Amino acid sequence: MAKLKHLIIALILIMFILFITSSLTSIYHGYSRLIIEQSLEQNRVYAEKLAYMVNLYLEESLQTLEYSAQNVAEHMDDQEVLTREVNQLYNIGKRFNSVIIANNDGLILAGAPEEFGLQGQKIASKQGLELLENKKPDISDPYMAATGKRLITISQPIFSKDGKYQGLINGTIYVNEHNYFHSLIDQHFYQDGSYVYVVDSTGKIIFHRDENRINENVSENEVVQHLLKGESGAKCVTNSLGMEMIAGYKTVDIAGWGIVAQTPKEMALKSVDEQVMNIFLLQLPLLILSVIISIFSAGKIAQPLQSMAEISEDSIKESELGKLKNLKVWYYEAFQLKNALVQSFSFLHSQLNFFMDKSTIDPLTGLTNRRTMDEILQRTIANKEPISIIMLDIDFFKKVNDTFGHAVGDEVLKFFANEMKNVTTRGICCRYGGEEFIILLPKLTALDAYNIAERLRKIMEKKISPCGHPVTFSAGVASYPNHATTVEDLIKQADKALYVAKQTGRNKVVIAHFWDEDTVQ
Ligand code: GH3
Ligand code: MG
Ligand code: MG
Repeated sequence: MAKLKHLIIALILIMFILFITSSLTSIYHGYSRLIIEQSLEQNRVYAEKLAYMVNLYLEESLQTLEYSAQNVAEHMDDQEVLTREVNQLYNIGKRFNSVIIANNDGLILAGAPEEFGLQGQKIASKQGLELLENKKPDISDPYMAATGKRLITISQPIFSKDGKYQGLINGTIYVNEHNYFHSLIDQHFYQDGSYVYVVDSTGKIIFHRDENRINENVSENEVVQHLLKGESGAKCVTNSLGMEMIAGYKTVDIAGWGIVAQTPKEMALKSVDEQVMNIFLLQLPLLILSVIISIFSAGKIAQPLQSMAEISEDSIKESELGKLKNLKVWYYEAFQLKNALVQSFSFLHSQLNFFMDKSTIDPLTGLTNRRTMDEILQRTIANKEPISIIMLDIDFFKKVNDTFGHAVGDEVLKFFANEMKNVTTRGICCRYGGEEFIILLPKLTALDAYNIAERLRKIMEKKISPCGHPVTFSAGVASYPNHATTVEDLIKQADKALYVAKQTGRNKVVIAHFWDEDTVQ
């Protein structure tokens, strides 16, 4: 059967496992939430910063072109001025990959760098013609030029002082080549797999670290949808490849573009696994220590109960009760339980003794009854231990009964039993039946027995009994192994001697075989 100690230990272990899993889970969730919130904020701030810088860059580009447009507005026919202007724009700050000034017919009057041979060509691209038509400052979405390069065009119209449209000045930026614009975005890769991409006003990717994805339309992406509506912020999304991303996003207002800074959720949470593992390992020695302490305590708690259970198994024996009484218990419940056990076992034993006595004791005289006397005799003789017996019979007892009544007769029997016990210090007094008694005297000789019987006889013949005068008795003594070899024979020999005593005058003690055979006929 399962033991209390093991049950408690099992309970403690289950508790610890549940505690560890639940606390690690809650640490994991709390920490994940924190990391996600941090990543959202980081990416939001980053997208904002980057959008601000791109915005600033484009704004400056527009302003630079506007300034140049003013410079050349009155010199559209001065080739030298125009060439100087485009070269300056091209060279200073390497802002543009190419610069042109065209007249209102789209004829390119000056172009840089010179090796592109732009001067003298006519603007033919759709985007270029639109710019000519619109006569407004503009930042285009990226498009594929005739040269096969993806570029954006930043354009300013040229108006003379009297407000006449003279043409335009364009700067181009190659989106996929290394220039200031590219490095502005590209320099910002994080260690944890975070990256940035930029979409144009139609949701097409302008910039992505994976160049294959450039020009891909991602307008379905939840974050891009927000950007197209002109909204900025941060949120967790699943990208078009099914990956969960923690994204911050911000519009580049001047161009209608959007910037997304994002971190794969899986990568962000990688550190959480490590952190939780670290916490677990850090706590492990303490956990092991507390498990050991708990198991030790379980042993201590179970100990008194276990001892009680073990002792109770033998507590049917009276001798074991002392062990239970002396058992050290150190807490209330065990103490109460022990007391209850001691009390109930004591009660059980007293009841048991009571019933045992009842079966061995003669109720009237309190002497050992005949059945028990018989058992003792049988055992003694079986063990071949020497023993003498005195068989006693009150003289003329019938008379006592007849004269004083049965109740007085009973009192006389009790009185006689009492006197018998007083003189018998090393024997067992038994009521053999009616007013006949036997005293068992283990290890004593017939002579010892005779002397004891004589002592009693002398007391009885003088002492006033409950009937108002002394009552005497006659007795026969017999010994094992001197006079008999069996219980039956031993009693028979004592009985015979008693008979002789009665026959020869009563109030006397006779030892077996010590008589003249003739008198015993
Ligand atoms: P004897 O000297 O020959 O022994 O004479 P006695 O009168 O004692 O004769 P006997 O032994 O035959 O008589 C025994 C009497 O003891 C018979 C019975 O009425 C009486 N007696 C037996 N048992 C009890 C008892 O328990 N209580 C009382 N009051 N009398 C008993
Ligand atoms: Mg008798
Ligand atoms: Mg008698």
